[in-house]
Amino acid sequence: MTAYNEAKMIKTLIGKLKHGSDLLEQLTEICRSNNIRLGRIEAIGAVKKARLGYYDQQKRQYKTLDIDRPMEITSLIGNISLCDDEPMVHAHLTLAESDGTCFGGHLQPGTIVFAGEFIIDACEGPRFIRSFDDRTGLALWKI
Ligand code: ZN
Repeated sequence: MTAYNEAKMIKTLIGKLKHGSDLLEQLTEICRSNNIRLGRIEAIGAVKKARLGYYDQQKRQYKTLDIDRPMEITSLIGNISLCDDEPMVHAHLTLAESDGTCFGGHLQPGTIVFAGEFIIDACEGPRFIRSFDDRTGLALWKI
C-alpha cells in the first residue's frame, strides 16, 4: 500500500562538511542541533573511505561493504525523520573511483569526509516515525 502525507518546506540549510568527520554522524548532528525532524538531504564531495550497506532481503540483515580508499561522492540523497524520538538521517550514496567506476549503497557510520557540500531542506508536517516492520525486518515509517 502506498502511504504518504503532506509536508511543507520551511527552511534550507546549505553548508560544507568538516574534513575528517564521520559523514552520517555529522549530517545527523546538523539535524539534531537545528531541530530538523523531517526533511530531505543531498550532498556531493569526496570521502577518505566509506562504509556502505546492502540489505539482504532473504537474511533480513545488512551486508557491509568497506571501501578503504578515497572516492568521489557523486550523489548522496536521503531523508530525515524520527526514530526513538531523535532525528534519523537515512541516506544512500553513490561513490566513484578514479576511472569512474561506481559503488553505491546505504550510508553507514564509518564513512569519513574528505570534503563536501550539503543541502538540507527542513519540513514541517506530520511526524514520520520509524518502527520495526515485520514484513521487511526494516525500521520503516509508520504512516
Ligand atoms: Zn537505506
